Amino acid sequence: MPATPPDLPKLISMLAAHYGKPRSPITTDPFELILLENVAYLVSDERREEAFTTLRQYAGTKPHEILSAADESILKATRLGGMHPEQRVNRLREIALIAMNEFDGDLRQVLKLPLPKAKQALRKFSSIGEPSAEKILLFTRSYPVLGLDSNGLRVLVRLGFGEEKKNYTATYRAVQEAIRDQLKQNYDWLISAHILLRQHGKELCKTNAPLCGKCPVKKRCAYFMTRESR
Ligand code: SF4
Repeated sequence: MPATPPDLPKLISMLAAHYGKPRSPITTDPFELILLENVAYLVSDERREEAFTTLRQYAGTKPHEILSAADESILKATRLGGMHPEQRVNRLREIALIAMNEFDGDLRQVLKLPLPKAKQALRKFSSIGEPSAEKILLFTRSYPVLGLDSNGLRVLVRLGFGEEKKNYTATYRAVQEAIRDQLKQNYDWLISAHILLRQHGKELCKTNAPLCGKCPVKKRCAYFMTRESR
């Protein structure tokens, strides 16, 4: 592991050169981002977005629309989103109920809270832990934080930011601490970084057997260098 962390902006530029400019997120609305997270389970990003678009089309994506939609309308979406579609209908309704009861149906007020309270409020919803809460705050351009999914986190640990700890939360915080001083205070850059790190984790820096030979940043990667020197 190198004594000083690698250059994050440089690495993100190299990933952007390799993968191309990421397309814009399908939504930047906080409630829709929660629905997107919950409408599908263990499916590709494309399939998740298809399920979400179907939800928009047949049931609507406002809390009151989810609560008043027929089960069959929501099922059209959740059936596209993988196993146990009926359970996800109930979950989407629970999410809508929390939004109505605790936030008057409008989550935009949450985004104006101080950062810790905003995260705490978002974590009331199913499937939203600290990383997803940070992603929502980033995609809604509320706070310049680099929320990371498990792919992005794995990539950064391998590159040499922070280290693997006993549990996911501790690793997440160690990585956040390690990258903090290198984050650009620029939403476009942060959103691109989130998407590119995720893409890299899914396509090349896979959990098992990463495809390091094809990796555009291998010469700057602590994991690769350590492996090569053995
Ligand atoms: S060299 Fe290998 S481990 Fe390092 S970032 Fe690339 S794919 Fe991941």
